Amino acid sequence: MAVSYKELGLVNTREMFAKAVKGGYAIPAFNFNTMEQMQAIVQAAVKQKSPVIMQVSKGARNYANGTILRYMAQGAVEYAKELGCANPQIVLHLDHGDSFELCKDCIDNGFSSVMIDGSALPYEDNIALTKKVVEYAHQHDVTVEAELGVLAGVEDEVQAEESHYTKPEEVIDFATRTGCDSLAISIGTSHGAYKFKPEQCTRDPKTGRLVPPPLAFDVLHAIEKKLPGFPIVLHGSSSVPQDEVDTINAHGGKLPDAVGIPEEQLREAAKSAVCKINIDSDSRLAMTAAIRKYFDEHPEHFDPRQYLKPARENMQKMYEHKIVDVLGSNNKL
Ligand SMILES: [Zn+2]
Repeated sequence: MAVSYKELGLVNTREMFAKAVKGGYAIPAFNFNTMEQMQAIVQAAVKQKSPVIMQVSKGARNYANGTILRYMAQGAVEYAKELGCANPQIVLHLDHGDSFELCKDCIDNGFSSVMIDGSALPYEDNIALTKKVVEYAHQHDVTVEAELGVLAGVEDEVQAEESHYTKPEEVIDFATRTGCDSLAISIGTSHGAYKFKPEQCTRDPKTGRLVPPPLAFDVLHAIEKKLPGFPIVLHGSSSVPQDEVDTINAHGGKLPDAVGIPEEQLREAAKSAVCKINIDSDSRLAMTAAIRKYFDEHPEHFDPRQYLKPARENMQKMYEHKIVDVLGSNNKL
């Protein structure tokens, strides 16, 4: 039995993105696979009155089970209402769908948005696969994110050795022929907590920290010119907060030279046609930092609620910071 996202109280991205592009802000897309992440995302979105995309990768589906995650998203809607949000705007999105079958399965099971990532395929094959997903998705009023250009880095099964910036001259043809609703582009963001090799960076002489190469705003602006007002998505946009990395390293962790995208650059991108910014690693870091610190300070404790509570609080703080200080999606409900 197919389940429509509309029955679950979820929304697709169409109206949300149109408003975000017009308003010069971006919608947060937070990955989730645990109850604590879900709770922290909903609490942050409700408190800051932000629309939110809760996204699930193939790896998250394998970890947590697709059915459970769908009920968690339904639970997120009900939880948001319980927290006092009369009209929550929550999207359940498939991150990096790699086949028509996976996208179809998600559409048939309550997802309101899917990504089909054909970016590793030859151009014409990417178009054919994306178009097939769009045709099925649109029959169900589900929105589709496609990708053109390749990101470097690691995120679950998504791996690419080197990045290839999106070619602005291709975007009109691609968007028109596929009918996709939004487009993930490559302008120098990267998946994971090690976005750049030390040799790609410079070092801040004061702090000794790595400074990553700047995003290719010229490519972004050229794309915007080709497709005015078309929703653009940035993947791999965690900032890898150095205080969380320091906390992890101070309590037995080992994350040397972890580096992300500076928040000033994401703030600038959010003001453009970029209307969805994906953040996953920062949540992982916030959770791990809080748990490591707690374990170090309370070696006698063993009740998971004791260490998952500060982990949840730390994630919520991070989500609110992103919403308010980076994406500007607060007070939009
Ligand atoms: Zn991604």
